[in-house]
Amino acid sequence: MPIFTPGRRWQPAYSPFKKENFGDRVLQVLEYSLKGPLFGCRMCGNCLLQETAFICPMECPKGLRNGPCGGSTSEYCYIDKTRPCIWYKIYERSFQLGREELLLEVLPPLDWEKVGQDSWRDIFRNVAKIGYKKVASGLLSRSAETRKQTWDGIFRPVRQPDWWQGDSKYHPPAYTEPVSELERRLVAGEFVVTSEITPPLSSRTDKLIQHIETTRHYVSALNFTDNASAMPRMTSWACSQIAIDHEAEPVLQISARNRSRGNLQSEVIGATALGVRNILCVTGDSAKLSPSPRENMEINDLDAIQMLWILRRMRDEGKYLDGREIKYPPKFFLGAAASPFSSDPKFQALREQKKVNAGAQFFQTNLVFDINGMEIWLNELAKRNVLDKVYILIGITPIKSLKMAVRLSEVPGVYLPEKIIRRMDVANTAGNAQEEGVQIALELISVIKRYHSQGIHGIHLMPVGWDEVVPRIVIESGLMPKEYVFDQTSQQEWNNAHPIEK
Ligand code: SF4
Repeated sequence: MPIFTPGRRWQPAYSPFKKENFGDRVLQVLEYSLKGPLFGCRMCGNCLLQETAFICPMECPKGLRNGPCGGSTSEYCYIDKTRPCIWYKIYERSFQLGREELLLEVLPPLDWEKVGQDSWRDIFRNVAKIGYKKVASGLLSRSAETRKQTWDGIFRPVRQPDWWQGDSKYHPPAYTEPVSELERRLVAGEFVVTSEITPPLSSRTDKLIQHIETTRHYVSALNFTDNASAMPRMTSWACSQIAIDHEAEPVLQISARNRSRGNLQSEVIGATALGVRNILCVTGDSAKLSPSPRENMEINDLDAIQMLWILRRMRDEGKYLDGREIKYPPKFFLGAAASPFSSDPKFQALREQKKVNAGAQFFQTNLVFDINGMEIWLNELAKRNVLDKVYILIGITPIKSLKMAVRLSEVPGVYLPEKIIRRMDVANTAGNAQEEGVQIALELISVIKRYHSQGIHGIHLMPVGWDEVVPRIVIESGLMPKEYVFDQTSQQEWNNAHPIEK
């Protein structure tokens, strides 16, 4: 081994160091010199510029290839405020050019073998395969349809490899009988409630079990977050298993952050073997939000839409991403997050439609405090014809304090009207902020219930650790699950026998 190794130690994300022949390097330099200044190309090697209004999306710090995250705004990217959200720009230009429907095509995750290489070779190869004459006559044809087909024949195989085959169509689930209690209730037309539990920070489970026991009778299912804000906690599947042991139905949340495609598939097979029947796919908060020292912020293998696409195909087609057959495919009810207040409602509706097409059967939305805004978003969804294809559960939180209200108003994707902050301010001065927060939640729920026939199917409570309030909210809003008669005495007895150590 030489004493001095003049190797490149640092590898930029999309240009990994590889030994390549001279011809390949020349092509790469040429492509980058041209497409870099023109389209902001980052040489991902899996070119999708055709679908993204000729703006390279790989500038997105999360590496998203299927649309904006919940933190997208017209002003800046929430991870790096010194730059705009590139997906916002792509959506804006696509709508201006009338190319927005192209954004519906479900695009694959990167083929890391190709990352850093040119895509021109693949394009030339496709042209040769079709035949130069045929390509020339197709592109010069008078028929717009022939021109489009020829163009697509060249570029589609570059962005849609055989192992992916993404499209813009809706793919209904390939089963008929509900696979979970949550799905059964939704199919039966119930207005359901789910509630989110934040997993514990330690391996002690008594508090977690207390939260499960306190809430399980009042809701159809319990969500367990997957390291929200990129903060390590007990894993969502361990919490889900504990919930199953305590006769509660879990919704396993899986975030794309820090998760590879291999890891996702094996985890889902394992979780379903343990009895998990509801899975919620989210892209996840950036590792930038995690506590310091921060992990690698460039582990961006998948986004939520790609996760949905992979999991739906595992379930309905019985196939791993690499094409291997699954003899006993997993069963699950697939969900996704929706964000009525991130970016322009028409942009969001398009992103939501893409999730439904990819496999989302239910949405749990980000927090809603503004019914008018929710209605605008619903109307945009109706225009996209997706309301009869997905169950929507609206996110509600009881605000516990004025401080929490102020903090929420700064969260990307949450819109807190000024009048709610004022109400919390007045209540805070009067010393009853908690009660006011509960009243606001109850008022919102009572209005949202009226949308049951207009595309809303339930409430998703996010009490942020204040799980004791869930029973009260469910009872006072008249949303106790049907057919359930709750024995409050036995619940109290259980609580007394299992005190939480503070
Ligand atoms: S706001 Fe989200 S989608 Fe937009 S560039 Fe930043 S990380 Fe990407």
